Amino acid sequence: MTRPTCIHIHLDRLVHNFHIARQLHGGRVLAVVKANAYGHGDVACAQALAPFADGFAVASVQEALRLREAGIGNRIVLLEGIFDAAEMEVVASQGLIPVIHDFWQIDALQRLPEGAAIPAWLKLDTGMHRLGFMPEMALRAYDALERCGKLSGLTLMTHFANADLATTGALDEPLRRFHQIQQGFPPLETSLCNSGALLGHPQAHGDWARPGLMLYGVDPAEPSIPARAALQPVMRFVSEISAVRTIAPGEAVGYGSRFRATRPTRVGVVPCGYADGYPRGASDGTPVGVGDGIAPLIGCVSMDMITVDLTDLPAAQLGTPVELWGERVAVSTVASRAGTVAYELLCQARRAQILIHPPLHS
Ligand SMILES: *Cc1c(COP(=O)(O)O)cnc(C)c1O
Repeated sequence: MTRPTCIHIHLDRLVHNFHIARQLHGGRVLAVVKANAYGHGDVACAQALAPFADGFAVASVQEALRLREAGIGNRIVLLEGIFDAAEMEVVASQGLIPVIHDFWQIDALQRLPEGAAIPAWLKLDTGMHRLGFMPEMALRAYDALERCGKLSGLTLMTHFANADLATTGALDEPLRRFHQIQQGFPPLETSLCNSGALLGHPQAHGDWARPGLMLYGVDPAEPSIPARAALQPVMRFVSEISAVRTIAPGEAVGYGSRFRATRPTRVGVVPCGYADGYPRGASDGTPVGVGDGIAPLIGCVSMDMITVDLTDLPAAQLGTPVELWGERVAVSTVASRAGTVAYELLCQARRAQILIHPPLHS
């Protein structure tokens, strides 16, 4: 038998989640498929969404070219723009839409051949302080873009630092800054919201939505905040119990003997560890789906294995199906037990065997 650990990707659920995003937003929706579609397979996800999405958003020209080579003809926005002036020609020839966040990118745009004109998005820094023009530079950037004569359309965008907070007012200050900058501009379309703002802050929707995480079936809010939409998890990370033993009270499990039994304990081994993307930081008690039940993780996560407490699941045995995350164990729950976020776990999940449902036709 082969190692049973694998990742199932359910594209029908991706499409379902996309329709929820579209319905909640009401305007145009770009599906964010950067970082290999948050670990779900960018080409498969883009092909599944291509008939519905108003476009895609990625982090680099390389990611965009992967989609173009797979035959994706939709609009593609480069969320971080170009990283090198020479990339602007690829942007133009492949019909990509760069985010412009610095003056050198406007110079690169200007150097496009005579007659060329492409659409771009102008990024404004409203408080995230990562990328974008500060409010006092925004109009200068706009003037430079207009003067360069290579623009066929412009959208104003910003990105929020706190969109996943449920607190009303969490976006008041960045929105105030955005609207203030906007007043100096002619009327332009806007793009404001990621998943958190789309789900929790309707006043921050703008014309073009940019949801990522929610398309994969995860609400970015704290797991303790009730889910705000009927999202369905797209990824199921699964395995099987591969060994079972019973240890006496006082005996320990795994590296560093982190977990010590206080009762006779049935220890189950699952062949999935941090090399597979299961977080090494997961604490004792992290829920693991075993058969119809939930078993707590016990002991340190190893490279290729974890150990779980099967004492209260007497039916669990060799070959019993295990779900690391997916339908019964939310990836956000595992993430919070490991001191991280669902985004990181999804991006890191990796197994040789990734099964796409329905299978891709070539
Ligand atoms: C990644 C990203 C998104 C998507 O964010 P989610 O929280 O996954 O919805 C949207 N906009 C920008 C600029 C991003 O970098």
